[in-house]
Amino acid sequence: MRYFWKIGNQKFNIRRTIFACIFAIVLTITTFGWSSATAYKPSTAVDFHRIPIGDGRISTQPQIGFLWSCRTEFRGPRRHGAHASGNWIDRNKTYDITTKPTVNGNVYWPGDFEMAIKDRSRQIVSNRLPQDPTGIFPISPDDDAYAFDRNPNSIRSARATLNLPANPQLAETPSCVPMGQVGILLNGGYLFNALDANGKDALAHEIQDSCQGHPEHRGTYHYHSITTCLDKRDPGNGHSALLGYALDGFGIYGHRLDGGRLATNSDLDVCHGHTHEVDWDGKKTKLYHYHATWEYPYTIGCYRGTPVKVARPRRPESARGEARL
Ligand SMILES: [Zn+2]
Ligand SMILES: [Zn+2]
Repeated sequence: MRYFWKIGNQKFNIRRTIFACIFAIVLTITTFGWSSATAYKPSTAVDFHRIPIGDGRISTQPQIGFLWSCRTEFRGPRRHGAHASGNWIDRNKTYDITTKPTVNGNVYWPGDFEMAIKDRSRQIVSNRLPQDPTGIFPISPDDDAYAFDRNPNSIRSARATLNLPANPQLAETPSCVPMGQVGILLNGGYLFNALDANGKDALAHEIQDSCQGHPEHRGTYHYHSITTCLDKRDPGNGHSALLGYALDGFGIYGHRLDGGRLATNSDLDVCHGHTHEVDWDGKKTKLYHYHATWEYPYTIGCYRGTPVKVARPRRPESARGEARL
């Protein structure tokens, strides 16, 4: 006996369809394996449908797969971030970044990012606006993202100067990363650590725009990972290009290692980096550098160099972006 679904003029053999589904599921499991945040094992392939959630992976010392956060207490009322989660979160252990909602919009800003090397210092002057597009913030009530995250902040600009060491050195011991800025990307967007204001995995829970960015309460547009919108600056094979700088002056490179393989935490040290020859200011130089991964903590786990102090922005100004279709 044969069972068919009939949709339009197409007939579907139910038994054959069920076998095909089972085969696809088995293939997916054998290719990617089950992931689980409780039995966390760094994977060799990235399954974007099941990225382990990093909640609770905050340490008080350098540790692979953890964020050594200077702040460890996150009690108190939930003031910022997502207020609800949806079906991109799988029983709080993994999340599917391909189905997570994004904030609508395609807004372009007059982003300014200038870099010059003076003496031993790399001076970066920016206006805190990204050169890659953003979503529309505050999140509008008619945006489907509003059901999960009502980010009320507008993107604001402020003149900012960073003086990083041009040739950074490893510190005697690593150090913890603060909340707020931990680096700057070459598109002018700020890089924050992997945590949201509640101490949870920001990339898993916060609703961001399609470049994985959003503004905080002072209007600073930032990412908690290396934005996929910078990938166009990355050649797509071999070792990733330099995509930003950490506040200790070391470079932050994209997701790929030599040979083009995607980096995982197990390829990197406790602070999420390693040392080998890279292009550095136009010269091949053997130097420590951080890498992006699709595994939490996504970028910097701790500082290997000595971070510079950053001044709080003077009064941020309202900024005007240009919405494009
Ligand atoms: Zn954030
Ligand atoms: Zn590398």
